[in-house]
Amino acid sequence: MSSTRVISLDCQGSTPRSLEEALEALKEEGAQVLAGGTDLVNNIKINLARPRRLVYILGISDLGFISVNGGALSIGAAARLSAIEHDRQVISKFPALSEAINVIGGTQIRNMATLAGNICNASPGADTPPILLVLDAEVEICGANGSTGIQSNRLPLGGFFTGPKRTVLKQGQMVRSVSLTLPPKHSGAAFRRLARVSLDIAKINCAAYVERDGDRIRKARIALGSVAPTPVRAPTIENALEGRKYGLGLIRESAELVEEDIAPIDDVRSTAEYRGQIASLLVREALQEAWKRSGGKE
Ligand SMILES: Cc1cc2nc3c(=O)[nH]c(=O)nc-3n(C[C@H](O)[C@H](O)[C@H](O)COP(=O)(O)OP(=O)(O)OC[C@H]3O[C@@H](n4cnc5c(N)ncnc54)[C@H](O)[C@@H]3O)c2cc1C
Repeated sequence: MSSTRVISLDCQGSTPRSLEEALEALKEEGAQVLAGGTDLVNNIKINLARPRRLVYILGISDLGFISVNGGALSIGAAARLSAIEHDRQVISKFPALSEAINVIGGTQIRNMATLAGNICNASPGADTPPILLVLDAEVEICGANGSTGIQSNRLPLGGFFTGPKRTVLKQGQMVRSVSLTLPPKHSGAAFRRLARVSLDIAKINCAAYVERDGDRIRKARIALGSVAPTPVRAPTIENALEGRKYGLGLIRESAELVEEDIAPIDDVRSTAEYRGQIASLLVREALQEAWKRSGGKE
């Protein structure tokens, strides 16, 4: 199928200038957010999405923020991936987030696409969810409340995904922002992924976060993508690491436990068997890098 064919779609469009206007438009049955369109337009082309109204949110300048306030970094739904990747505060406080974004598509894709879109598309193999999960990200969900107000609530990202391509979002709701608490001293995070070629979607990806107490691992968080219906944390490995003295033996043994936490399948990008084998290697690499970034000695 050609990717340049004319798309036949009976669909209305809205170009709101404020969050309120966007939420009003999203109340209509079949209305859907259009951000960078790098997933949604493809999905329309292959009949995976048939929106009745597209609500284009990148014209809402109030949603383009990347800001640090009250000990947290907040990223608005209209902030492009390239702006986040190159943001000074992101690079200094969350280098692994910048690195995870850097592998997404090419420059043109990152100039269009958003972080909120990467999450809301809910692909099990998307590249930002693992790093956001280990950084304990929260998602701010908004919906119209009555004729004027906005109802908003925050949810840990871990509770956002409900299945492949499915999230907790209901008709009329959208993600306004994603926020991350600034990391404490002696902590570090890292991201790893494996793909056929660099521009391809990941066969598997992984992120690790550690907090260090001298030569011990005080806290560990591991997350993986493309190994289950949604991006997942790896609690078995986390429990095996916490409170223990860091060492390559511990990292190797703990990473081997990854099979307890994942349920990979065969698909066009890889086999379940290969994903299972490579997962422990990626976990090991991510943990070693996260430990180094926390200031720990090898
Ligand atoms: C060539 C190519 C290569 C790619 N490579 C990668 C890759 O390597 N890694 C990777 O992870 N992804 C990759 N992608 C996928 C894509 O670029 C990302 O998922 C992107 O971040 C989606 O953001 P967007 O702004 O374009 O979302 P859109 O396409 O506009 O929207 C995606 C979905 O999210 C919903 N949505 C968007 N924003 C919101 C919001 N604020 N609230 C509620 N719902 C919302 C839309 O309704 C739609 O269902 C690639 C895509 C292409 C075309």
